[in-house]
Parts: sequence; C-alpha cells; structure tokens
Amino acid sequence: MNFEFPRTLGQEDARERLSQALSQGRFPHALLVHGEAGLGQHALLLDIAQILCCDGAGARPCGGCHFCRAFENNALDNVLYLMPLVKKSKDGDDDPGEGLDSALVDELLEKIQAWYANPYGFRCEDKALVTVGQTRALIARLGYAESLRKARLVLVPYFEALNVNAANSLLKILEEPPADVYFLIGSENRAALLPTLLSRCLHLGLSPLDPRAFRAAVDSLAARAGVPVVPALLPFAEGSPGTYLELVQDGGAELLEEGLRFLSAAASPDWRVFADYTGQGPAAAGMEETLKLLHFLLRMVRVHEALRALHGADAAALRGSADGYRWTAQALEKEGWDASLAAYLGPLEDLADLPAFVACLEAAHTAVKGYSKPQVALVGLFLEYEAKARRAKAQTARAAA
Ligand SMILES: [Zn+2]
Repeated sequence: MNFEFPRTLGQEDARERLSQALSQGRFPHALLVHGEAGLGQHALLLDIAQILCCDGAGARPCGGCHFCRAFENNALDNVLYLMPLVKKSKDGDDDPGEGLDSALVDELLEKIQAWYANPYGFRCEDKALVTVGQTRALIARLGYAESLRKARLVLVPYFEALNVNAANSLLKILEEPPADVYFLIGSENRAALLPTLLSRCLHLGLSPLDPRAFRAAVDSLAARAGVPVVPALLPFAEGSPGTYLELVQDGGAELLEEGLRFLSAAASPDWRVFADYTGQGPAAAGMEETLKLLHFLLRMVRVHEALRALHGADAAALRGSADGYRWTAQALEKEGWDASLAAYLGPLEDLADLPAFVACLEAAHTAVKGYSKPQVALVGLFLEYEAKARRAKAQTARAAA
C-alpha cells in the first residue's frame, strides 16, 4: 500500500518513517509531531488522519471514497479534537472543568474549518487553552466502545495549550489507550510539555526545509494560499513554509525596510541619530509593533550569521563597509538568494560590535515589555551597546599599539 501526504510540503524523512509504520501495521497510538512553527505539523496531522480514515484500494488517502469525502468536510464522528479555545469565564476561573457551551462549540468549528482550509496558516491565540473540562468530556466519550468500523482519532494541534489539569487527566488514557484510539498530536514547543506526557508518545521531529525543497514548497504554497512569491523575503523564513506565509501576509516587506532604517541608525557613531529614529516608526507606535520589528531584526541577524558560517572565509578577507556589502551580495548569490538583499544585510557589517548588538536586541525584547514607551527602553539599551562597542574598540586599539 502506498501513502501520500497531499497537504504536507517537503519533510521527506518524516513521510518515509510514517509510511513504514503504516505499511508494517505498527502505527503508534500516540504520535507527537513537533518542530518550529510553520514547518508543517498541522498539514501532516491532517494527512495522517485522512490516511487512517480512507478505505481506498490504491494509494491512501484516495480522495474519492466515502470516508475521504466526509473527512474533508469534517463530517466524521470518529475524528475528535482537543482544540485550544479562548474561554471567557464569568467568575474569573480559567478552568471551570465543564464541557463546551454553544459559543465554544462555534469557536471550535470555526477553528477546525480554518485548519482544514489552510494548514500552514493555522494558528491559535496565545491565551487559548485546552481545559480539563474538554479532556474529561473526551475521556468519557472514549470510554464507550463505539460500533464504528473506523479507528477513533483524537487530533491535538497544540499540545502545549493543555493546562496542567487537562494534561494530567490525559496521562492514564495516553498510557493505555483503547485499542482503536489514536492520538495525533502537534507541538511547536516540545520543551514546554510535561515529561510524563512526552514519555507516552512516539516523537516525530520536523526540520527546516533545505533551500531547494523550501523554494518548491513556497511556489506550491503561494499557489494554494493565493499569495505572491517575494524573493527578498525567502531567506528570512528560515526554511519554514508557514513562516514565509506569515511574513508575506503580515507586512514582511515593510519590516525589511524598517529593519534597514533601524540598523542604519544604530550603526551611526552619534547616539542621537538612533534616539531620533526611535522617536518615529514602530518604537513610537507601541509595544506590539516594536516587538514585531525586533523579531524581524533577529531574523536578519540569523540570515547574516548563516551566510558567515557558510562563506566566512571570504568575509574575513573583505572587512570594512563597502567590501562588506560586496561580500554579502556574493554570499547571497552563492546560496541562491536575492543578491539585492546585501543592501539590507550589509549594514550589519558596519556595526562596531555585532555580538554586543545581538545581545542588545535580545535584551530589548524583554525590556520593551516593561515600558509604556518602548523607545525609552530601546534608547537605554543602545546607549549601553554604544559604550560596550567603544570599550571593545579602545581595547583593540590598545592591543594593536
Ligand atoms: Zn479514501
């Protein structure tokens, strides 16, 4: 029997492992698919679920059998969900331990629909949770042996969204699931999960796609989701199709321009230039905008570091501003990326002390959350950075003399 994963982009190793487990009839009762956001957990979980539901004679899922068609319309009784939902409890209790009221059922159905329609764009709000009320209702339901021909599947897209009580209530059933029950679980943050839960699952890790597979994935995702292919944004998605989609849909092109303005101001020897810069733009607009920019700047740094790791020998021979840009353009070209990005990444070469700058960006992330005016936090931190860079420069000069 052949297995296909029509929603999943790339991830050949994971497909291969799953195909083997499926064809050898040793599919795990609790599978945890984990990796950074956007690598394809949510697409893969749906593909596996449909494979397990399909009863086509050839490759599965066939897409044409009764079960495939019902699956695609979320009309199968044997497919259950533990979906993080945003609960607005009246008495301030986050987890009243009850099942879902009708508003939450509506929210659940909406989220399932969004997941099926666009698995790479599917996300849950930070404050959405799976509560013990939901897990208890599920366990009660699984306790009845149903006279279904099909295995029962429990889809859990965000394992980290289970609160502690909900997680603990699942331990027993995960340890000894009924013979016809399969838990298909996803996580973007495995480190946050209880070890007792982790030990009960078979783990399947997803990795960033290599450049060739990533480019193919973006082309097919762009066609499916109706978004453009923006070459300048490709490196910043770090091999994650979902991250690419998010960048394109969430102002990535503007963030790139803003990142350049930020770096140019930060590289100026006069700290007042940077202070002026923070008086406008995202830092003046508020915390959320500032955090978005800081995240993107860290992406720029990671791309720069990756280029250095790959082509660092050339970089050492080309120190200094103008050459730094040329080196960056060459390195980008060698990697198959858009060489015009050198204008955006080159300024990282102009910074007096890149490691200190990166430390400063990371600290800024925490610091801006504590201030009502993010620019105050940023200017404070960058004054520190300037002082550090100056000290380092003086030290180098002394060492040379
Ligand atoms: Zn089928």
